[in-house]
Amino acid sequence: MECRLLDYSEGESVARLRAELRALVAEHVPEDFLGAFTDDPADLALTERFSRMLGERQLLTMAWPPEYGGAGADLLEQAAFREEMWAAHEPRGAQYMGVNWVGPVIMRHGTEDQKARHLPPIAAGEVIWCQGFSEPNAGSDLPALRTRATRVDGGWSVTGQKVWTSYALMAHWCFLLARTGPAGERRSGITVFLTPMDQPGIEVRPIGTMLGPHHLNEVYFDDVFVPDSEVLGAIGGGWPIVSDVLGFERIGIARYARSEKLLRDAPKRLGPAWAELPASLRERWATALVRARQARLLAYRLIEDERAPSALDAAAYRITVTTLDQEAADVLSEILGNDSVGVTDGRRVFEREVEDNWRYSQSATVASGTLEVNKQTIAKSLEAS
Ligand SMILES: Cc1cc2nc3c(=O)[nH]c(=O)nc-3n(C[C@H](O)[C@H](O)[C@H](O)COP(=O)(O)OP(=O)(O)OC[C@H]3O[C@@H](n4cnc5c(N)ncnc54)[C@H](O)[C@@H]3O)c2cc1C
Repeated sequence: MECRLLDYSEGESVARLRAELRALVAEHVPEDFLGAFTDDPADLALTERFSRMLGERQLLTMAWPPEYGGAGADLLEQAAFREEMWAAHEPRGAQYMGVNWVGPVIMRHGTEDQKARHLPPIAAGEVIWCQGFSEPNAGSDLPALRTRATRVDGGWSVTGQKVWTSYALMAHWCFLLARTGPAGERRSGITVFLTPMDQPGIEVRPIGTMLGPHHLNEVYFDDVFVPDSEVLGAIGGGWPIVSDVLGFERIGIARYARSEKLLRDAPKRLGPAWAELPASLRERWATALVRARQARLLAYRLIEDERAPSALDAAAYRITVTTLDQEAADVLSEILGNDSVGVTDGRRVFEREVEDNWRYSQSATVASGTLEVNKQTIAKSLEAS
């Protein structure tokens, strides 16, 4: 069977795309940019402008079908796009959530009306989505969620609490899970509500963490109205949609690309001090680079299946990239701690990048399913096969 992506020859169109994206990043994103969720509101504003510009150029959802705002790009181009964005500290800001999984899941499960209303704003980079899944006693055990939706005239009234909701403070819409079946039910009683975040009854409380003050939040829903037109899929039919979400979400970020870029930059940034590092540390650096390449190849293999990533594949990918992230972050931190070069401007930017990447890598084995839970998914899938 032909396996084009594993041939790993990117071809001219991907090279052109990478050059175009790097030029856009160089022109519009300052060298010291570390993502949208810092203390400086200018960073969020930058990502909003940058996303709209990508939307205008039909780059944001390039592999979507043209009728939904895509440009019919191929899978390698889409992979290269993700890599370039993640390596540049994600100048799309929170957009990748809409692009990576909200859009594809609405494409798969939405009504024609929902597709017509929700997909074009995502493709244009105009809308931020957040994910209302986790609750105080329902994280790994998501089917235990208790946020409840009850029938009212013309729609549903939602009451409950979500936690660890990324981007809730800036989001326009929430992809919200709520219980519509009886209390004792688990998977079968869950429904997806596409909920506007400007509705009365929604309160967002930021949770300060080492990811910064604006990333994670608690979200409280008190008698929040959601019209019937915003129910995604069938009432009580949310769980198969959740499975699709988790599949797309777990393979949707090219985390290896930032690790690889920082690892590759290290000798250049250290200059003559590189040669003075202990050989054992340089060996670990080389091993991390090899692991980054392995992760990239695994990603390319899964991308060929992207329209239906299996739970096993998605979990394997997530474990590979998140543990690589942590290994690379540790090696880079030790490299910086080991050399005695004076602080230059370029060196200071690199230190901030490494430090930021270290903090994010620590949370990566919890977000989108913990390491232990992803391992269990693999074990259960293998047992069942
Ligand atoms: C950076 C970040 C961003 C996030 N963004 C969002 C978001 O946008 N929306 C959202 O809904 N959620 C989000 N989350 C929440 C995330 O999905 C949960 O933290 C995660 O699913 C774990 O749930 P929990 O925190 O309740 O931990 P728990 O489920 O309570 O787990 C605690 C510990 O017990 C272990 N454990 C649990 N069950 C088992 C088991 N069966 N076998 C073995 N070990 C087990 C876990 O591995 C973990 O070590 C985010 C989390 C982080 C860190």
